[in-house]
Amino acid sequence: MTLTLLKNARIVDGSQDRPSDPVDILIEGETIRDVGPGIRSAAETTIDLSGLTVLPGLIDCHVHVIATKLDLGANADLPNSLVALRAARIMRGMLLRGFTTVRDLGGADHGLVEALEEGSIEGPRLVICGKALSQTGGHTDYRGRHNRRTVEHYPDRLGALGRICDGVDEVRRACREEIMGGAQFIKLMANGGVSSPTDPIANLGFSREEVSAAVEEARNAQTYVSAHLYTDEAIRRALECGVISIEHGNLIRPDTAALAREKGAFVVPTNIVYDRLAKDGAALGLPSASVAKIEDVRSAGLEALSILHEAGVTMVYGTDLLGEMHEHQSEEFVIRGERLPAMNVIRSATSDAAKAIGLEGRVGTIAPGAFADIIAVNGNPLDDLALLTGQGRNMPLIMKGGISVKRVEQHFR
Ligand SMILES: [Zn+2]
Repeated sequence: MTLTLLKNARIVDGSQDRPSDPVDILIEGETIRDVGPGIRSAAETTIDLSGLTVLPGLIDCHVHVIATKLDLGANADLPNSLVALRAARIMRGMLLRGFTTVRDLGGADHGLVEALEEGSIEGPRLVICGKALSQTGGHTDYRGRHNRRTVEHYPDRLGALGRICDGVDEVRRACREEIMGGAQFIKLMANGGVSSPTDPIANLGFSREEVSAAVEEARNAQTYVSAHLYTDEAIRRALECGVISIEHGNLIRPDTAALAREKGAFVVPTNIVYDRLAKDGAALGLPSASVAKIEDVRSAGLEALSILHEAGVTMVYGTDLLGEMHEHQSEEFVIRGERLPAMNVIRSATSDAAKAIGLEGRVGTIAPGAFADIIAVNGNPLDDLALLTGQGRNMPLIMKGGISVKRVEQHFR
């Protein structure tokens, strides 16, 4: 197997508040074999990373790779072929921003996973839930008030983020179908949302019985439930039912944050999406019913960062960007950095993220046995998180599974 040696890597992985002393990283095939000072090896390729900082490939725990338009109802009506080809472009963009693993929170199917694995398309490792589950009129029901079209077509539309199910039996069947289709966890829309037409933010999605049924189905399949949640009431109910991945969480209060910590749940704030929706949403075609909802969650989401940090809840990196907004994926780093230590923010996209999505030790770390997913950065992101933005502009090396996706030679000694 091919051996590659990275020399003089000063590692920043979120475990310390300064870069490590220089170490060498020996890569065999797609895996890191050894990390330490002065490694001697007859490697075919040697890259000297002196002067750069080196991070594990970044992890985004809340994306929608099939969200090619901001108007998700219109996205669901696009031809599957067009959605697949656009998703390929969206995923390549993510990889070139240094994200080597992403967790899709609704829409991506196992076909995309296979296309990535066989190399038909180039993108991050993709962890999927299949379709998100929503009740009638919930967060992925895009029909609106005057449309009584049935929703049976949603599961077959690649551009649909979710599918509709009502009642414990339908929820169980939907969970089982998604898991059969390759879902690695279950996503529930358990609260109202911004991008959907008939579900105010304060509404709860699904009954307790339905949420608990999904939790049981996920556990039966050795996995977990993630839920779309904003209000304190909805988050508390979800935690009580056994949901462990809290998406957004904008309106969480300190008592519920303490409960999340006690339950070992993690939260995936996605502030950048509200920031961009507030700036560009209307111009990019976000329906007016959605524009009116943005401020219900935007500023509270920033406050939630402090509440969660104070309560000691694990936060992982998420963005939730749609359509034309994907290019802002790395700006969540900067938003969080205004409230949280840079070290924690980096950890949210490395080891904490890996732990949350069940890939601890395989991604989000530079250690023997992990995939050789590695980026090199010009400058130190612990001093300036904005170095991670700009479409990978400050990343002369992006490596996924030991293969250089991007390699700009003049930056290496
Ligand atoms: Zn989402």
